[in-house]
Amino acid sequence: MATSPVSALSVPSRFAIELEKLDPEVPFRASQSYVHHTWARTFHSRPELYIRPQSIPEIQKVVTLARRMRRRVVTVGCAHSPSDLTCTSAWMVNLDDYSQVLDVDRERKTITVQAGIRMHALNLAAKEHGLTMPSLGSIDDQSLAGAIATATHGSSMNHGLLSESVASLRIVLANGQAVKCSPAQSPDLFRAALVSLGALGIIVEIEFQLSEHCDLEWVQTILPIEDILEEWKRGLWTSDDFVRVWWLPYMRRAILWRASQTSKPPRKPEYNWYGGSVGYHTYHILLYISQYVPRFLPWVEWFVFGMQYGFGNGSTMSAVEEKRTGLLMNCLYSQFVNEWSIPLSDGPEALTRLTKWIHGDEQGSGIPFSPKGVYVHSPIEVRVANAQSSSRPYLDTQQPGVPTLYLNATLYRPYGQDPPARERYYEAFEHLMKEYQGRPHWAKNFQSVDHAYLSSVYGPDLDDYLRVRNEVDPDGMFVGSWHRQTILPPRTELPVFPLEEKEIVRRERKTGGTDWLGEQARWWDGGIDVFSKEKGNGNGSESEESFDLMAGAEAEQSILLQSLHDDLPTPEVEKRVREGTEEGVTGHGVFSKM
Ligand SMILES: Cc1cc2nc3c(=O)[nH]c(=O)nc-3n(C[C@H](O)[C@H](O)[C@H](O)COP(=O)(O)OP(=O)(O)OC[C@H]3O[C@@H](n4cnc5c(N)ncnc54)[C@H](O)[C@@H]3O)c2cc1C
Repeated sequence: MATSPVSALSVPSRFAIELEKLDPEVPFRASQSYVHHTWARTFHSRPELYIRPQSIPEIQKVVTLARRMRRRVVTVGCAHSPSDLTCTSAWMVNLDDYSQVLDVDRERKTITVQAGIRMHALNLAAKEHGLTMPSLGSIDDQSLAGAIATATHGSSMNHGLLSESVASLRIVLANGQAVKCSPAQSPDLFRAALVSLGALGIIVEIEFQLSEHCDLEWVQTILPIEDILEEWKRGLWTSDDFVRVWWLPYMRRAILWRASQTSKPPRKPEYNWYGGSVGYHTYHILLYISQYVPRFLPWVEWFVFGMQYGFGNGSTMSAVEEKRTGLLMNCLYSQFVNEWSIPLSDGPEALTRLTKWIHGDEQGSGIPFSPKGVYVHSPIEVRVANAQSSSRPYLDTQQPGVPTLYLNATLYRPYGQDPPARERYYEAFEHLMKEYQGRPHWAKNFQSVDHAYLSSVYGPDLDDYLRVRNEVDPDGMFVGSWHRQTILPPRTELPVFPLEEKEIVRRERKTGGTDWLGEQARWWDGGIDVFSKEKGNGNGSESEESFDLMAGAEAEQSILLQSLHDDLPTPEVEKRVREGTEEGVTGHGVFSKM
């Protein structure tokens, strides 16, 4: 009989009864006391069980048990989504141990993978066959399933979302069935699963379309924003295979980054100030000081980007490297991100208005929120996408029928501290985006989006997504409060699903970020008091678990915090050294852009 670590769990007696009814040969690999947090440490939660299955039967067993134990299931990739999307007090499934390459078809240029694979690993495996992912965002750390689930994108007029390279996928639904779908097979399920927000089921396998492995030459130049707006009229975004812009509003300059395929020999970038440790730490400290003296920020922008690029316009940096690393960049520190899509043609106007607002010109910007005392971080990230596929996700963030511009308002969290300007900046930014029928990036930190707004911009596509979702998961096993607050209609219109997880409390942590507690840390339905075990009562029998939930959550905060504190590794979790890069005084080669 296969061994299962389940005997080490403190679980209600009903759990053991349900487990016994299932095939003992299939392990249930679960642990407790796992503390989940997002990459940016914006949110923390403690799931009742943290489960890492290694096969489809194991994943099916998790779903079957969850259904019988009346539990919500959240699948988490590597938690790079900075919102509370992946927070849960119920069961958390992670597919890091289900992340192998299953097949590479050189002729069709496809790779079939287990869905937990990280994109970095996928690209390394593809390279062995002379292939690579057609497009990437700024990083390749994400799980493939997590990246497609939130409509992750890069910046190119020749590509849409990463999801558009999905040829087919297999998903384990709430009834435990593993179902394959593609544009030809169950197309509705396929379109819903292409950007699923984790609310459809557990995606277990993905067949992904690749392209020929190649090198890119990238060139970045710092220019006045007037020059960028002029170039915009002359085909800025189609001038190279990949183009992106970083907007520096206070200096009224922008960094233009372009890359195209090349056969030139590899070449490293010449100089990079904040990729090196002196620049990296100086910038971080300056951002921290600005927490207390926000009006310092325009000077920080001038100084940091001056040190990086020179204080005059026109200086250029370039390199030749593999596409799979050339598209990546240094995201520096923990951050809030608020990214929206608007029609590309509205970009110059939207950016001009936003720049005016940041400069304090409320009237000229036409944004009815006071910019007084608001100072923001730089840069604003400006990217494009252009859908190439006809089988598009229902929740595609690209603008329908026209090329898309993505604007990303980043606010760093220096040393884990939330920036003071966030609420009003994002209020103003979201107001502006909504004037252009903006669609929020699903993974990010938007604050004024609900079903009514999404209905107005997604129309029947949102209805179709919800129809499919509700059909395949009628009990709401994969639904949490993020989904309720964002995409689902209010409870008055769509009653709470039996397994839907409600948020009970969220609290600011002293060390930055938010603790999130959901309803399923409850005792009355046979569940486990996930906190009582921290007091050392170990065996977790149900009689020990009765406590008033709210009071319990309050009382146990210190226990949760202590554990979270222990979990913090180093102050510099953000700094990542990648495979194939060199660390030196001037930094890591791959961290040279922007
Ligand atoms: C530093 C950084 C840089 C980034 N750069 C970009 C960028 O350039 N472009 C861009 O568009 N986005 C970018 N993002 C956002 C990022 O791509 C998304 O947050 C992505 O969803 C993260 O993938 P993940 O594996 O961490 O998924 P998670 O954040 O863990 O999960 C995201 C969603 O996927 C679901 N999910 C995960 N696995 C499965 C599965 N097997 N089955 C079903 N559902 C599943 C989860 O339930 C959740 O709903 C960036 C984020 C960070 C932190």
